[in-house]
Amino acid sequence: MSAISAADIISILKAEVENYNWDAGEQEVGSVIWVGDGIATIYGIDHAMYGEIVVFDNGVKGMVQDIRRNEIGCILFGSDTGIKEGTKVTRTKKKAGIPVGEGYIGRIINALGEPVDGKGEIPAKDYRPIEEEAPGIIQRRSVNTPLETGILSIDSMFPIGRGQRELIIGDRQTGKTSIAVDTIINQKGKGVICIYVAIGQKASSVAKLVSTLEHHGALDYTIVLVSTASEPASLQYISPYAGTALGEYFMYQGKDVLMVYDDLSKHAVAYRALSLLLERPPGREAYPGDVFYLHSRLLERSSRLNDELGGGSITALPIVETQAGDVSSYIPTNVISITDGQIFLESDLFFAGMRPAVNVGLSVSRVGGAAQTKAMKKASGSIRIDLAQYREMEVFTQFSSDLDDNTKQQLQHGKVLMELLKQPLAHPLSLHEQVMTLCLANNRVFDSVEVKKVKEYQKGILEFIDRKHPQIGFEIEEKKALTDELVEQIIEAAKEYKSR
Ligand code: ATP
Ligand code: MG
Repeated sequence: MSAISAADIISILKAEVENYNWDAGEQEVGSVIWVGDGIATIYGIDHAMYGEIVVFDNGVKGMVQDIRRNEIGCILFGSDTGIKEGTKVTRTKKKAGIPVGEGYIGRIINALGEPVDGKGEIPAKDYRPIEEEAPGIIQRRSVNTPLETGILSIDSMFPIGRGQRELIIGDRQTGKTSIAVDTIINQKGKGVICIYVAIGQKASSVAKLVSTLEHHGALDYTIVLVSTASEPASLQYISPYAGTALGEYFMYQGKDVLMVYDDLSKHAVAYRALSLLLERPPGREAYPGDVFYLHSRLLERSSRLNDELGGGSITALPIVETQAGDVSSYIPTNVISITDGQIFLESDLFFAGMRPAVNVGLSVSRVGGAAQTKAMKKASGSIRIDLAQYREMEVFTQFSSDLDDNTKQQLQHGKVLMELLKQPLAHPLSLHEQVMTLCLANNRVFDSVEVKKVKEYQKGILEFIDRKHPQIGFEIEEKKALTDELVEQIIEAAKEYKSR
């Protein structure tokens, strides 16, 4: 007979129940029921959250994107070759995130925050979720500081403020990336951290861009996050969010950040591929129904924080590619309505030699004017109207030969303005150079110059004033205002230059 009495058994059972380790069962493990095209369907993980990271037996990570009654769908952040039917999958209970820190500045990374420039490990300070709620209204303040692009046509007519979202839109090969890169180059010494997110581009284009930045010493304050066209759609999809997570790390420290998303058309295409593979119903242009939310939740995160939160900002320059100048297709209309304005680049202008090819009629900045310096506001006064008048008159007078003097003058002035707005790559103009150029143009100083020679004349006169009368430029930069005395001094200097 057994030596253990019933009382013993009960005490053993009681102890078992009391000491039962509840944690033991919490590791939820499921198994793969289908895998392919960078997507896996998993059975047996019942409590996974949307956006949670799961780990496969071979170490590859995935992100939950679809939660259905009996199974979940997830996208893979690595190759699916080691994963097959029955492979075990474990929940991590963590949302997707990337390591962040100052060490990232000057580095080239992928969408998972891993370095791809061969310069070794990056020390991380923190870890941030890639999807983060945007700051609320109370946490923000209005845009009041300019983010200078150094491009005359943009800073004078479509100014961008820190915390603003300005779309760069145009057909392929119209100089969209160039505007963003020039803006990054112009941030040198201005205390702005730049993050360039390349989505679905060729690795060679990104390499070229990196060498341009390096050449101009702009990589010292820039992070380049790359997910090339050859990488899985899942990485292309998360890359802008990952880049923004890095930006937020700096913004919440009170710093100013410039984010470039190049480009969101390719981002939408990557998301469409994932959605179709996840068997979501296709909508307009085969994009899933939530493609607006895809970009709105990204761009909402750009903001200017209030002073209690440190006053940092994220300025966003999303780029969208159009087909044959059609701004009314799905993705362009979405992003136009999300952003605070757009810079519209046109092929016709580009090929006519008008570079940057900014279409003055269709571009707009809805908040930047508030951030423009007094000097710029005063100097740029009538330039948009003058250009609009010129464009109308140009069409009218195309075929007429005998024009009255007044019309001739206006045409000449328009031509000169167009010429002044041309700007070669990587030649940013500082505030005082822009203000002086506009001031001289408004006072018709360039109108007597032959159109072909305007650029040369502009360069000469700016150099002359900076050398002979440096206090003019100094005062504009210092006070950021353009007094009547300064205008007079500039005009006097121009006369001096002319009579040399
Ligand atoms: P893609 O659609 O391929 O991304 P994109 O619209 O980004 O093209 P860029 O790559 O910026 O265009 O520029 C296209 C070409 O135009 C480049 O060779 C660039 O050097 C030239 N370019 C752009 N802006 C200017 C400029 N202001 N002056 C002279 N050349 C320019
Ligand atoms: Mg480009």
